[in-house]
Amino acid sequence: MMKEEFGHTNEPDAKSYPLESDRAVRTRLIHGIGRSRKWDYDHHVVPPMTSSATFRLDSASRGAQGFVEFGHLSPDSKERGPIYIYDRLDEPTRGMLEENLAVAERAECAVCFATGMAAISAALGILAPAGAHILSHRTIYGCTYSLMTNWLPRINVETSFADFVDPQSIANNIRENTRILYFETPVNPDMQLIDIAAARRTLDEINRHRPAEHRVWMVVDNTFASPFCQRPVTLGADVVVESLTKAIGGFGTDLGGVVAGPKSLHDSLVMYRKDFGASLSPKSAWPPLVYGLPSLAARMANYQKTAHHIARFLENHPKVEYVRYPGLANFPQFELAKKQMVDEGGHFAPGSMIYFVLRRKSDNDNPGERLIDWIAANSYCITLAVSLGQIKTLIECPYSMTHAALPPQRKAEHGLVPGGVRLSVGLEDWHDLMSELSEALDHI
Ligand SMILES: *Cc1c(COP(=O)(O)O)cnc(C)c1O
Repeated sequence: MMKEEFGHTNEPDAKSYPLESDRAVRTRLIHGIGRSRKWDYDHHVVPPMTSSATFRLDSASRGAQGFVEFGHLSPDSKERGPIYIYDRLDEPTRGMLEENLAVAERAECAVCFATGMAAISAALGILAPAGAHILSHRTIYGCTYSLMTNWLPRINVETSFADFVDPQSIANNIRENTRILYFETPVNPDMQLIDIAAARRTLDEINRHRPAEHRVWMVVDNTFASPFCQRPVTLGADVVVESLTKAIGGFGTDLGGVVAGPKSLHDSLVMYRKDFGASLSPKSAWPPLVYGLPSLAARMANYQKTAHHIARFLENHPKVEYVRYPGLANFPQFELAKKQMVDEGGHFAPGSMIYFVLRRKSDNDNPGERLIDWIAANSYCITLAVSLGQIKTLIECPYSMTHAALPPQRKAEHGLVPGGVRLSVGLEDWHDLMSELSEALDHI
């Protein structure tokens, strides 16, 4: 029998397993003490980081049952718990993160992927069959744009772009074969908002006249806001995609992505993940499970206070032409921001991202680049780097960096100008951030 005293819990249950001393050292070094009760999650305060590519099956019939149930969750399997077979299919650390992400996004289910782009590829992959059309807002994350314009056309999925800030443009550009309406809000980097509830009303009107298999799905990238500031599903989105690398991960250690949505899509999502292969590694699921999601609310509340101080400061600075932060009273879509970006307590939650545009001295001046170069060389607590939502404040110049590949006239269409600067506010003391920004502005 297993001894319960402290220090003896490693002993195997002699009734079920052969004593390890009967085996050669090389065998014992592989199998250790056999099975340990230390893997009893109920007694861990912090979930352990699992790391097992494959899982022990007690019998052929249990293995068969596992394969039958995978991607077709039955009521019994819910009660008994899943039968794990192989990491790429399903595994416990990632599974716990998925349960928590579904709660955070107020969705029926969540499925995690190796990166945000893998999550976006999967959402589009299961919803857009060959011959389908995607209608997207014109400004989107660069790799999403590249996926839609370079790769999806090869499987005969075409994307066209419109300006969803005008809700009428959605109805005007939907086609017979449109299956997905896709956008981010706030939009990266210019911080424009798309009205999710208005888009829902437009799609309901369109879907009312279509058979279920021809319906248009609304997919919203919630990376910029994070589920603390906005839960698109509660506003009418069908599916949320999100990079865990950003605000949810929060500490900048791991890449990850999630698709959250209705239960009806769960099985297709896990099947797609199984076959296309971009499963989130449990080692990368563990930091957002243990650090990122549990600290999201506290971090975001702090980021927002600091972002508000900084946005007000920039707004009044003579070298700044304009600032876009949804929390400012002169934000062009302030009424929509107050309605759409709210935390679970109902408080206005305008987030941690600021976009501001510096005045140019001449037609070929690039003041954004001058500012970030000065910061890269001289700043202590503002870091020149892409990505966002971390505990460290990050700055970048979309015109010259993240969106550099766009031709000049496309940049102008996307609201990208040489003086534009994107700031992701971190957890530093806001006085320090402000004094470094102020010094940088004095020097350019
Ligand atoms: C970073 C980002 C992505 C992609 O996420 P990865 O984890 O880097 O693959 C998608 N959408 C937005 C808005 C992003 O900022």
